[in-house]
Amino acid sequence: MSGSHSLRALISNCVLPANEARILLAHVLEKHYQLPRSALLSHDDMSLNEQAFQEWESLASRRLHGEPIAYILGKKGFHNIELQVGPGALIPRPETELLVEIALAEITKLNKPARVLDLGTGSGAIALSIASAAPLVSVVATDQSTEALAIAIKNTESLNLTKQIQFLQGSWYEVLIQQSQFDVIVSNPPYIANQDPHLSQGDLRFEPKSALTDYASGLNCLEIIIAGADQHLKAGGLIAVEHGFDQSETVVELMKEAGLVDVQVHQDLAGHSRAASSRKSL
Ligand code: GLN
Repeated sequence: MSGSHSLRALISNCVLPANEARILLAHVLEKHYQLPRSALLSHDDMSLNEQAFQEWESLASRRLHGEPIAYILGKKGFHNIELQVGPGALIPRPETELLVEIALAEITKLNKPARVLDLGTGSGAIALSIASAAPLVSVVATDQSTEALAIAIKNTESLNLTKQIQFLQGSWYEVLIQQSQFDVIVSNPPYIANQDPHLSQGDLRFEPKSALTDYASGLNCLEIIIAGADQHLKAGGLIAVEHGFDQSETVVELMKEAGLVDVQVHQDLAGHSRAASSRKSL
């Protein structure tokens, strides 16, 4: 094997940003040599065998064509868990950890085995991080997409959380029985407006469109979710939703119109208002 296949040479000759090249190469090292990421430095003069080299080239080329790193690796870290991801479900975003934190704070305060509803669960990111951090909680998670649910179920099995989670296929509250009520409702619905240029840029091009946009103003799903909260929350129960950086005022207004109380705005790590919560009155 020629020296031009050394790890150092592969990274410096690659047109991808160095951090991305390192992530992909670390994946190849782990898969073909069971080596940790630190081998990128400690074995930087090592040459890849032909099979590993071909895999590296294929991964780098997929990334050059724009495919999200999370889909190429088939996994993504979120909150305290690692999720399997694929083109059938939205890639979990760090800002969505805010919803998990809001829910967990409420669950801790309740100090009893809480019932949680996650609407539009996708890969199961929110539902599974809550279940994993709060073992007494039971979660009902819905999604319209059977592809997304298949991914969520796989994640539930590999994280050993099947006892705590029930999945239902359907749109928002539609699949729940009318009397079903929860201590906490969480949702990261599609809230990007149909004409938003971001939909045709970057990672979003590869994600399921129905997980990103309501094909309208961006507010349709948030409206349905907020309007249905009263029926499916216990008295004093909490709903928390993620929304776009410019939707905070409207979402607050929707919560007030729906008769919800104690409306609060929450900021992500970048300081943007990206979630709102409120309660059904006692
Ligand atoms: N946060 C995602 C983005 O802006 C959108 C996810 C969503 O619509 N729920 O890329």
